Amino acid sequence: MFSLIKLRRVFTVHQVPKAFHEDSIISGYRHPRSSATDCVLSLFQLTNETLNVWTHFLPTWYFLWKLMTVLLMENALYDAYTWPLLVFLFSCCVYPLASSCAHTFSTMSTCARHICYFFDYGALSLYSLGSAISYSAYVFPDAWVNSTFHAYYIPVAVLNTIISTSLSCYSRLGLPFLHYNHDIDERFSERQSPRLSKVLRILAFAFPYLFDNIPLFYRLFLCVGEGCTDNEANSIHVHHTLLAYLTAFLFATHLPERLAPGRFDYIGHSHQLFHVCAIIGTHFQMKAIEADMVLRRSQLLVTAPPITFNNTVGSALVCVCISLGIICLYSLPLLQWEGVSKWSFMVNRNTFIN
Ligand SMILES: [Zn+2]
Repeated sequence: MFSLIKLRRVFTVHQVPKAFHEDSIISGYRHPRSSATDCVLSLFQLTNETLNVWTHFLPTWYFLWKLMTVLLMENALYDAYTWPLLVFLFSCCVYPLASSCAHTFSTMSTCARHICYFFDYGALSLYSLGSAISYSAYVFPDAWVNSTFHAYYIPVAVLNTIISTSLSCYSRLGLPFLHYNHDIDERFSERQSPRLSKVLRILAFAFPYLFDNIPLFYRLFLCVGEGCTDNEANSIHVHHTLLAYLTAFLFATHLPERLAPGRFDYIGHSHQLFHVCAIIGTHFQMKAIEADMVLRRSQLLVTAPPITFNNTVGSALVCVCISLGIICLYSLPLLQWEGVSKWSFMVNRNTFIN
């Protein structure tokens, strides 16, 4: 099969525009103006993005299989108690799929690269809300069930997803129309102040994650006495929490490639490890949520607030619509610019690669 595919040339960091540079990755870059077909074919060739794609594309099918299993085998559509799990599993399918698509098609153009990652950020925000919806239904400690915090938890989580998508998109290019510049390869905010851009992006994802986990952290690490919900799910929640911190550490530090630039270009760089840790963490999170859901069912059906369309699927739909609106707002000026610059880019194509 591999012999049927004509392998495309890969480039070094000095041969591609700055917008495509990755910290401490020296080689293995694809052509910065690849066609969609070339992008797909590049998945069967070792580049610095190949494993980034596969480490999220294959798990997408695992979570899709889980979602279909719950949907088909447990008659979940008629059981409102299962809806939060369905929303969570749906978000677990969307975020690795969006990520693998972003990594696949991000070398079609500079504008395509930004738009691909805007969708990636939107999908991560949805995953954060999916976690919050399932935590609200199954994971809250008994002591906090029906509290004022519980009543406002999902509305605040929806608000957080809007802030998270906006802030992460802002971290790439600044504000649409105001900060965008036609010279976007050289002058977008990521390049003007890369450290601030990175801090903003970490904040955009860490803040909703930390908020979502307030009830879980209280249950695991602070709660004493009655109402702490000390059951078998706790140890699985701890595994997920440890992996989440490892994931954030890898994303923030760019280790190990920072210690040996060029050594981990194709295999073993931090973004691949970040993907793998995120997926294993999500797997443990899913197992813990399922355990709580089964162990606490009879009790939660009596004591917890009713699970409705509005606080499950409805909230997720609101998040999807608003996130798509934000992504459109950030993408429109890029699409306009893409049209204007298409011809000049074609003329300059060879100056990038010499
Ligand atoms: Zn990624």
